[in-house]
Amino acid sequence: MQERFLSKPNAKVHWNKQVVDCLSDGKEGMNEKLRAVVLEDTKTGERSELTVKGLFIAIGHTPATKFLKDSGLEFDGAGYLDLKTRHSNTNIDGVFAAGDVADGEYRQAVTAAGMGCQAALDAERWLGAKGLV
Ligand SMILES: Cc1cc2nc3c(=O)[nH]c(=O)nc-3n(C[C@H](O)[C@H](O)[C@H](O)COP(=O)(O)OP(=O)(O)OC[C@H]3O[C@@H](n4cnc5c(N)ncnc54)[C@H](O)[C@@H]3O)c2cc1C
Repeated sequence: MQERFLSKPNAKVHWNKQVVDCLSDGKEGMNEKLRAVVLEDTKTGERSELTVKGLFIAIGHTPATKFLKDSGLEFDGAGYLDLKTRHSNTNIDGVFAAGDVADGEYRQAVTAAGMGCQAALDAERWLGAKGLV
């Protein structure tokens, strides 16, 4: 990915810089737009302005499952909860998973919502089978 990005003639990397502020064009309400970001040099602390028309923040691809590490739940090699079937069942009876913690393939809002619906139905059926609802 790094090589692909660096090979783009119209892409520029601002090394050792982090975005610390966003500056408005000064217009009000719905007409307000981003004018620039303030960059801070992570080595020197020096700040500079970069004129931009948009800002996309990427968070990363590590599933937030660390807090479950001692739960007995099983994970795949990348840290996603390992679903045992095409349903939402995990390795622990009565524990169902959905969304980005259990999907290393699609990681989209709509797929996470669909998986959430599947997990809710699976949980309802599980409770029903136990005579709990
Ligand atoms: C920058 C970015 C852009 C994206 N753009 C798109 C897009 O354009 N289209 C699209 O379809 N998808 C997009 N996605 C992906 C989409 O946001 C996710 O696939 C979706 O939000 C996953 O839903 P989720 O419910 O599984 O997880 P999340 O939405 O991440 O919800 C998990 C929740 O659990 C909470 N949580 C975490 N740990 C704990 C804990 N220990 N205890 C209690 N609560 C906890 C979190 O605070 C969070 O509220 C984007 C994601 C990012 C990061």
